[in-house]
Amino acid sequence: MKKSDYKIHIIGAGISGLIAAQVLENYGYHPKIIEATNTVGGRVKSDIVNDYILDHGFQVLLSEYPAAKKYLNYQALDLQKLVSGAVIFKDGKTQKIGDPFRDISLLFPTIFANIGSTKDKLKILKLNTNLKKKKLQEIFNTDEITTHQYLKNYGFSENIMNSFFKPFFSGIFLEPNLETSSRMFEFVYKMFGEGHAVIPKEGIQAISNQLKNNLQHTTFLFNTPVQQVKNNSIILNSGQEIKSHFTIIATEASNLVSNLKNQETEWKSCDTLYFEVPERTLKTPIIGLVAEASTLINNIFYTTSVKSSTKGKQELLSVTIVKEHQLKESDLVNKVTSELIKYCNIIDAKFIKRYCIKKALPKLSNLQYEISSTETQLTSSIFLAGDQLLNGSLNAAMISGERAAMGIIKTLEDGLIVDELTSEY
Ligand SMILES: Cc1cc2nc3c(=O)[nH]c(=O)nc-3n(C[C@H](O)[C@H](O)[C@H](O)COP(=O)(O)OP(=O)(O)OC[C@H]3O[C@@H](n4cnc5c(N)ncnc54)[C@H](O)[C@@H]3O)c2cc1C
Repeated sequence: MKKSDYKIHIIGAGISGLIAAQVLENYGYHPKIIEATNTVGGRVKSDIVNDYILDHGFQVLLSEYPAAKKYLNYQALDLQKLVSGAVIFKDGKTQKIGDPFRDISLLFPTIFANIGSTKDKLKILKLNTNLKKKKLQEIFNTDEITTHQYLKNYGFSENIMNSFFKPFFSGIFLEPNLETSSRMFEFVYKMFGEGHAVIPKEGIQAISNQLKNNLQHTTFLFNTPVQQVKNNSIILNSGQEIKSHFTIIATEASNLVSNLKNQETEWKSCDTLYFEVPERTLKTPIIGLVAEASTLINNIFYTTSVKSSTKGKQELLSVTIVKEHQLKESDLVNKVTSELIKYCNIIDAKFIKRYCIKKALPKLSNLQYEISSTETQLTSSIFLAGDQLLNGSLNAAMISGERAAMGIIKTLEDGLIVDELTSEY
């Protein structure tokens, strides 16, 4: 049989599914992606509303992600850098902190900011140095504790914990208490320290679109939810059965495969609200953190503070909420609007759209950096991918997709799976 004749299906056109397709293509196969929605991207999508780009939840690419460097063409994405720091809104004051080694304009504000003691600032330098030296695999081999405990063990003061670490990393982990594994903290901190947080000029979906446009021999079935995956066949919601030599499930598999019924992934959710405002209170592209225990708002970002391919009439503000709440949308908008006035001095914010993302990041323990191709294999013909196998990041989604594809390739080419012993990451 010719390589292109194998029926290889990928369920899910998110980042992990798109990378799996690319790797299969690189080896001469012609996969087919079956996707429930009408477009690629999964969690990495954007809409255009009133000429503003609205990402489905505020998210950034960390430019040092090893897998992103391998699979993305950064130049074509026209990546826009965020300032390495944050503006903190606390006790009626606005203060800027950041990494003066990377952005000299942050030197004086950081020294004078009343956020943390001098001891805290020295500890941050120590953390930077330690994590620069620590290899990624080493990070994921270290015993995990909660990030909160990790920072306490490091000796950081309550002040810097509440004013900086908690709001900043809550916005990344999408949970307010820093219960996320210390492995994720070290990983993300290292990536921030060694590279930049960036957003493509055309919005986050440009990443998904680029991956899709690179595919030459992959076909897509959109608007086609899958109901069940069996060995050598896929049952669609429509009842239709599709024959498949190999299937990669590039999404949560527990609902699709009968023997995984009790292994459902738990998820963290968030809300991102977009507002149109007449002017920016933060002139540079920097994240604003509301460091108050009682607020719903976790962070704000003026998406129009970076260059974008299309520009609305005024400025666009994204507001992210990570705390659980039971508010209906109109009450949520009212509460957020009044918090914007009270804590950030942002008046005249006109609500545009809300993204309530129920399954934003997987809630995981024993986080892993990578997975061998053998470990992605569930049955003789079913392989698994998706960030929920490793850790909630674009990097993990890419690695998982690559490894699932390699699992199929090795099965076909070697007749057996040979585990890779050395990691290229
Ligand atoms: C608000 C938010 C902020 C984030 N911030 C960051 C960040 O700053 N940095 C970072 O690195 N990562 C971030 N992430 C995480 C990152 O987006 C994900 O790790 C990554 O997109 C996961 O890709 P995936 O392919 O594993 O899954 P998904 O993107 O979930 O893709 C799964 C695909 O499968 C499809 N599908 C599901 N079920 C079926 C079915 N039955 N039949 C057919 N198709 C199906 C879905 O429609 C979807 O397209 C963030 C995520 C969110 C939501």
